[in-house]
Amino acid sequence: MVAAVRVHKHGGPEVLTFEEIEVGAPGPGQVRVKQHACGVNYIDTYFRIGMYPSPVGIPFVAGNEGAGEVTAVGPGVTDIKVGDRVAYVVGLGGYAAERLLPADRAVKLPDGISYEQAAGMMLKGMTAQYLLKRTFKVEKGTTLLMHAAAGGVGQILCQWANALGATVIGTAGTKDKAEIAKAHGAQHVILYRDEDFVAKVKEITGGKLCDVVYDGIGKATFPASLDCIRPLGMFVSFGSASGQIEAFNINILQAKGSLFATRPTLNNYVAKREDLLATAQDLFDAVLSGKVTIPINQKYALKDAVKAHRDLEGRETTGSSILIP
Ligand code: NDP
Repeated sequence: MVAAVRVHKHGGPEVLTFEEIEVGAPGPGQVRVKQHACGVNYIDTYFRIGMYPSPVGIPFVAGNEGAGEVTAVGPGVTDIKVGDRVAYVVGLGGYAAERLLPADRAVKLPDGISYEQAAGMMLKGMTAQYLLKRTFKVEKGTTLLMHAAAGGVGQILCQWANALGATVIGTAGTKDKAEIAKAHGAQHVILYRDEDFVAKVKEITGGKLCDVVYDGIGKATFPASLDCIRPLGMFVSFGSASGQIEAFNINILQAKGSLFATRPTLNNYVAKREDLLATAQDLFDAVLSGKVTIPINQKYALKDAVKAHRDLEGRETTGSSILIP
């Protein structure tokens, strides 16, 4: 039996239950991993409240990301072996001391990346990678707006965008968070709880607006985010920290300047193993070169997952949060 955090009914953070579960031997195509750190992500809360359906029904082990050592491999697994240091992003099963994992989702860690760093960056960092390089190609001269710039995805994306030569405008909920965002790649930060962020974007860009807006906030920043985008620019709605955007008339995209809009998710961008490995490698290179640092600002014991979720949803966190089994 191993320690894990399960959800038996949907609800607030209090439904996260610390208990013991059985983890069997790996089946065909699986590996068993002894986890050293588990990532905490906003998406974990969507599964917990039932906004995203659990693919394995209820109860389920919460969490979508982790890093650890392979302790057993199942039949047919050839490229991962016992003793390998791996990290992954996969639907559920993350908050546990040990787990079974599809081998084709495991990524081997380079020596220079620790388990804790890996658990703090695989999901958020691969998201930043595809958002900056595939959803919209950010390059020198791009002007972008990133909401929640001091958050987990926010700090990684802003540092990386800065390294790519972009003008990075961030939003943040408090002055302290604004300072953190500024120290991590955002050249301009708007306090969007106190200031009109559309007016500020107009002022900062001299009326030119942004080429792309990355919006993980959802309901609270829609449709205002569209007013920050230049004609033919791109609206990237990649999350719903404040709740989901309600149905809207697509003609609004014409009215706001023939905008493009997309609602991407990491799963689709790394569905093929070659894309997973290339995306992870680009992230490892960015971190190992020092272009991007992974601030792990909250570290909790696995048994304290309830607090981790309370802090995340309460807007108390900055950077990445991890659980230690
Ligand atoms: P964050 O660390 O960014 O935490 C969320 C932040 O959102 C808060 O700290 C807060 O920052 C801001 N926020 C604004 N309004 C609210 C609200 N009403 N309730 C709570 N928080 C609010 O989380 P993550 O880095 O884990 O994720 C960021 C976003 O990216 C999420 O929407 C997540 O779903 C999305 N995501 C999407 C992926 C994809 O592939 N589509 C993959 C990974 C993440 P502040 O106080 O500064 O406003």
